[in-house]
Amino acid sequence: MATEIGFIGVGNMGGPMVANLLAGGYAVRVYDPNKAAVDDCVAKGASTASSPKDLADQVETVLVCLPTPQIVQAVALGENGLSKGSKVKTYIDLSTTGPQTSVPVAEGLKEAGIVALDAPVSGGVIGAVSGSLAVMVSGPHNDFGHHRPMLEKIGKNVFYVGDKIGMGQMMKLLNNLLSGTALAVTAEAVTLGVKAGLDPKLMIDIFNASSGRNTATETKFPNSVLTRKFDGGFGSALMFKDVRLCLEEAEAQGITMFVGNATRQAWSFALNQGEAGEDSTQIIEHYENLAGVEWPEDKS
Ligand code: NAD
Repeated sequence: MATEIGFIGVGNMGGPMVANLLAGGYAVRVYDPNKAAVDDCVAKGASTASSPKDLADQVETVLVCLPTPQIVQAVALGENGLSKGSKVKTYIDLSTTGPQTSVPVAEGLKEAGIVALDAPVSGGVIGAVSGSLAVMVSGPHNDFGHHRPMLEKIGKNVFYVGDKIGMGQMMKLLNNLLSGTALAVTAEAVTLGVKAGLDPKLMIDIFNASSGRNTATETKFPNSVLTRKFDGGFGSALMFKDVRLCLEEAEAQGITMFVGNATRQAWSFALNQGEAGEDSTQIIEHYENLAGVEWPEDKS
């Protein structure tokens, strides 16, 4: 019989991860207040639970992939949270919440006899769909070893970062500081180039053949900005959250980050200018508005 696991938060990232776990031979029981997202998982073979506690009464291992630290806290430790469940033994957090959330959550769960692993992921919706995410795990090594085969169903690159909870989260915040900086500065550079009369597609081709190449020039611009589809699948609110959490860690540790602070301001600007729920690739629209730059017609 297939091992049954639980999954909470089946949005842009969690939904495709559930599909890969089902395809990998696991039975998956899901909880999410968004009915459409749950229905999608059920259509692929998942079963459901009525609350985090209900899920934790039925399975030993629960993965979560949730949007904010506050929601992670409530799902893990709140009323009807996982910690109130009778069967759950292991909690694996795939969300990006930062050490300041994952450490106290792990301590709260420990009091309820539940082991926590940090396992934030990188690779975007494309990586979640193809099962090729990078997974950055920290927590007790034995528990990591036990759950590694399951994590390999969602990520081709599963890294063990260390035995202290929070280390995986720290690693992920550093990654997203780099990714957020690359996207913001690429949007700035392309806006300047367009104002100076350069062709955006040609600029991206040249960056990608040159030393300005980065994750924004390689995937986000070709797929979502040049096409003006803005469908990268990673919201500006999530990007701002991750950069903010990283800068808070830097401040807590007395580390000065000049560029990091500029990146935080860029994402704060995008968030304040943009519509709720907008994609992070839309940051370029705010630079264009600021500079009075019109995106050129596609002549290809
Ligand atoms: P999302 O908003 O698409 O999905 C989050 C899901 O959580 C939604 O389905 C929502 O209904 C559900 N949810 C909200 N409140 C809940 C609650 N109280 N109980 C249960 N479910 C609840 O977000 P996402 O893009 O899938 O991101 C999830 C996490 O993964 C975030 O921490 C994000 O930073 C991280 N992440 C995202 C990406 C990406 O490219 N989207 C990449 C790497 C990491």
